[in-house]
Amino acid sequence: MKEKQFVKKNERYTLDIIDLSYEGMGVAKVDGYPLFIENALPGERVEVLVLKAGNKFGYAKVEKWLTESPDRQPLKDNRLLRTGIAPLAHLIYEKQLEFKQKQVENVMNKIAKMPDVEILPTIGMENPVGYRNKAQIPVRRIDGRLATGFYKKNSHDLVEIEDYYIQDPAIDEAIQCVREILQRFQVRGYNEAKNEGQIRHIIIRRGHYSHEMMVVLVTRKEKFFKGKEIAAVIHEEIPEVVSVIQNINEEKTNVILGDKEKVLFGRSYIEDQLLGNTYRISSKSFYQVNAEQTEKLYQTAIEFADLKKEDVVIDAYSGIGTIGLSLAAQVKQVYGMELIPEAIEDAQFNALTNKIENAHYEVGKAEIVMKKWQEKGIKPSVIVVDPPRKGLDSHFIESTVGMSPEKIIYISCNPATFARDAKLFADSGYEVRKVQPVDLFPQIHHVELVALITPKA
Ligand code: SAH
Repeated sequence: MKEKQFVKKNERYTLDIIDLSYEGMGVAKVDGYPLFIENALPGERVEVLVLKAGNKFGYAKVEKWLTESPDRQPLKDNRLLRTGIAPLAHLIYEKQLEFKQKQVENVMNKIAKMPDVEILPTIGMENPVGYRNKAQIPVRRIDGRLATGFYKKNSHDLVEIEDYYIQDPAIDEAIQCVREILQRFQVRGYNEAKNEGQIRHIIIRRGHYSHEMMVVLVTRKEKFFKGKEIAAVIHEEIPEVVSVIQNINEEKTNVILGDKEKVLFGRSYIEDQLLGNTYRISSKSFYQVNAEQTEKLYQTAIEFADLKKEDVVIDAYSGIGTIGLSLAAQVKQVYGMELIPEAIEDAQFNALTNKIENAHYEVGKAEIVMKKWQEKGIKPSVIVVDPPRKGLDSHFIESTVGMSPEKIIYISCNPATFARDAKLFADSGYEVRKVQPVDLFPQIHHVELVALITPKA
C-alpha cells in the first residue's frame, strides 16, 4: 500500500483503459492508483486530466483519444453521459449485453462463490432506444423561464435536454408541451437552494400499448393557482393524457414525491397491457419501465417455473400483480404481497378486470406477511420474488425455505444482492440452476436477471 496518495487534481496522464466499472466508467491505473474516466472504453489509450483525487481513487476526463476501441459507437449527445441518463451510450449494444452477462458471472464468482452456475447470454432488445415509459423531470427557473432536463451527475445542476434518447419520444414531446403550458400560466419553477417557487417535477407515464398518459405535477405548495384549468389545457393539447395529478411535496428533500395527491383532471390511474392482460397503474404504484423487455422477463420466469395445474404460487413483492396475474390461469392459486397499499388496490382491481378469481393479495412487508402465511400452513410449490435493489430480508429467506417450495424464481435488479441471497439459499439446501440476464435498461448500466433455484439433489 502507498503511504500517501500521489495523484493530484489537474495533473495530466497518458493511460491505457483496462476495465469498465459496473457504472460504465473506464478504469485506468497510475502505479496502482485507480482513476475512473467517463467516455473511455477498455483497450483505448487516452490523455486525461485529473478532476478529483481522493484517498483510494480519483476521477479524470479524457482530453484526447490516442486510440479508439472497436466497441465504440458514435455518441449521439455528450449530455447522455454527463447526466448519467445513458452511461453506456458510447458502447455498441452487443457489447453492452456481454458486459451485463459478465457482471453477473463476476458476482456469482466473487460473492456467491458459485463459479459453475450457468449464466445465459443477456436477452437484448431489438431497437434499444426510446423504450422508457416513465420520466421524472426536474423543473427549474432559469433566466425567468421554466427549464426542464436532467441533473449533471453527482449534482443538482440542471442540464437542459429535449431528446432524452431512451425515453418514449411521445413522452419527450409531452414534457416540453407541459412545460410551455405551465410557463403560459406563469407557474414559478422551483428554486432548490431557497426552497421557493412552485413546480418541482413533471412526471409522465405512458402506456406502451394503450398510449394512455398520466401527468403528475409535483408542487411545493398545496395551493396551486389555476391547477384545474392547467390540467384541462394539458388534456386539450395532449389528448392522450387521461390523468393529471397534483402531488404535494413541501419538504426540502431529494425525494421526488410527497404523500398528498389530488386528481386535477380525469382518472387517478392509466391502463396498459402486458402479455394480454390489462393493468390499472396508479401514480404511486411501481411499474416496470420497459414493457417490451418486461414481457420477455416474465416469460422467462414462467418458463423457469414450468407450471402445473395444481401449483400454488406466491408472488412476493408483487407491485400491481403483473407477474402473478400473468401465470394465474395456469395454476391452482396465487398469493401476492406488497408494501404499497395503492399497488395492492391496483392488483386486486387488476385481478377482477382480467376475470382472475384465484389470486389473493395482502399489503405488508414481505418478510412479515411471508412468516404469517408460513404459520397459517400455506404450502406454495413455486415462490416468485422480485425485491427492490437491497434484495431479500434474511427472515424472508428463512420463511421461504421453511415452506419447502419446489422452485424459487428470483427476479433481481441488483446482481450483487442476488448473489448474496443465492449464497443464503445455498446454505439452506437450495441450489441455483441457471441465471438469465434480461436487458431492461439498454444504454444504462443497470442489470436485471431471473434465476431458477431448486432444492439440492
Ligand atoms: N413484481 C412487480 C414489482 C417489482 S418492484 C413488477 O414486476 O412490476 C419491487 C416491489 O417491491 C415494489 O412494488 C415495492 O413497492 C415493493 N417493496 C419494497 N419493499 C418491500 C417490502 N419490504 N415488502 C414488500 N414489498 C416491498
